[in-house]
Amino acid sequence: MLDIKIEKTTNPKPIPGPEDPLVFGTIFTDHMYVMEYCPEKGWHDPAIMPYQPISLAPSAMVFHYGQEMFEGLKAYKTEDGRILLFRPDKNAERANNSNRRLMIPEIDPEDFINAVKTIVEVDQAWIPTKPGTSLYVRPFVIATDPFLGVRPSNTYKFIIILSPVGAYYPEGLNPVKIWIEDKYVRAVRGGIGEAKTGGNYVASLAAQIKAHDEGYSQVLWLDGVERKYIEEVGAMNIFFKINGTVVTPVLNGSILPGVTRDTCIALCKEWGLPVEERRVSVEELEAAAKDGSLEEVWGTGTAAVISPVGHLRYEDDVFQIGDGGIGQISQKLYDTVTGIQLGKVEDKYGWTVEVK
Ligand SMILES: *Cc1c(COP(=O)(O)O)cnc(C)c1O
Repeated sequence: MLDIKIEKTTNPKPIPGPEDPLVFGTIFTDHMYVMEYCPEKGWHDPAIMPYQPISLAPSAMVFHYGQEMFEGLKAYKTEDGRILLFRPDKNAERANNSNRRLMIPEIDPEDFINAVKTIVEVDQAWIPTKPGTSLYVRPFVIATDPFLGVRPSNTYKFIIILSPVGAYYPEGLNPVKIWIEDKYVRAVRGGIGEAKTGGNYVASLAAQIKAHDEGYSQVLWLDGVERKYIEEVGAMNIFFKINGTVVTPVLNGSILPGVTRDTCIALCKEWGLPVEERRVSVEELEAAAKDGSLEEVWGTGTAAVISPVGHLRYEDDVFQIGDGGIGQISQKLYDTVTGIQLGKVEDKYGWTVEVK
């Protein structure tokens, strides 16, 4: 494992207090982690330094060809003062799956996890403690060769920044309205849909704006070939409870394999619910909504953990889910996952990792 050099800021910023609003992704801590890659040395010289702008050539390849990977996870402070990460090994593993697809050199998972632990420890005073708050951790890699021309870069930077975030739903769990997109697609099989990379988000913007203009908060994507099968919600995976069975689209190569998705599948199975990972068509959902067997719908992702879905719109059809409120399984998943993350519910699976 590489040794991380630590240079602390001499000019610390004020840390937000419990009464300050923490709007997601707007506040950054005092430090950042940076590690460089070149073919001669591999990944080298990891360092924690004051949070600051980075200097890159305007020709840096990331600006032109989008070669970048990112991750997202959270650190929590427990009531007894411990600092916990939730399944960081899964993020390290997924980072390398994305890296391979994007022709970015792999990062030793031990160095990845050690980097996250060390930067979180350095900025631990920034971990908020009000219910529902946490420190969001954003690791990412960018291609830095000053070069125009399409090939993998030879040099890269691996950076981690931290952002204190508030409760995703300040008034508690709140059902969202979701737009099923029938024109634009996010990803196709064989493409980069299963890699966590900015390009997938650029592809999603036009539909997101369209959905927002129609009063919907998120877009639910269909498969890129037939536009018939449900894929995911862009920054969340999606689950349906149909006639007592929990159903989620099978990972088919164009869906991002969420850590929260994996967590929810394990918990539902533990609770004795039948879980099916398979193709789900819009027609099946429409029929289930009409005959009343579509009991619950929820999204899963690190930011919101669980997002209950109150209604879905497909073309001119609007279908309400259950009574439009929060489903029982959605609530139980939310309480259990956040309980484990905060060290309040027994961690049977060893999902939490203590920072120190
Ligand atoms: C990050 C992400 C998710 C959710 O993954 P988690 O690991 O649960 O946070 C889902 N879809 C996409 C496209 C994502 O980028």
